[in-house]
Amino acid sequence: AEKLELINKRIRAFPDFPVKGILFRDICPILKDPKALTAVIDLFEEHVRQTCPQIELIVGLDARGFLFGPLLAQRLGIGFVLVRKKGKLPGPTVSVSYALEYGKAEAEIQEDAVSPGQKVLIVDDLLATGGTLGAACDLMKKQQAEVVGCLVVIEMTELKGVERLKPYPVFSLVHF
Ligand code: 5GP
Repeated sequence: AEKLELINKRIRAFPDFPVKGILFRDICPILKDPKALTAVIDLFEEHVRQTCPQIELIVGLDARGFLFGPLLAQRLGIGFVLVRKKGKLPGPTVSVSYALEYGKAEAEIQEDAVSPGQKVLIVDDLLATGGTLGAACDLMKKQQAEVVGCLVVIEMTELKGVERLKPYPVFSLVHF
């Protein structure tokens, strides 16, 4: 509860960013406060050890999933894989297109990033409509990896991303 309080305190809201009508939740203050960042990774680690210790790989989403994912992977002693926006990864890749809360995008992984049957956990900073995490789940499915769940710092409850991601379970620390 103390850790959650600290994390909560380090999330700022900016109205009308990146477009009018969106209240953007800024996680930069979490990164600036080592105690808050440690609290995030502590709570993620605790959850993984309790619910899915068999996990083999952490998959992080472009770009803020890259801030939390590798730290968690290091804690767990497992590897980290990047899901990137299209055109950023070298070598053979696999991609899917998806709709965003505002706009449209394509997500991509390297073809050899995950192996069939591998148990993965997908990490991002925030769940809104679930389009982004959903695309990452689709990529994992395409490569026959097993998505054991999704982890986010923030869940925007009213946008129903959790519904969208079913049957994959979502674990979130802070709800708005
Ligand atoms: P979704 O695809 O679930 O609609 O949107 C989630 C994605 O958009 C995440 O990758 C997240 O980084 C980004 N995003 C959307 N809204 C916000 C926000 O208010 N704050 C932050 N930090 N990221 C957001």
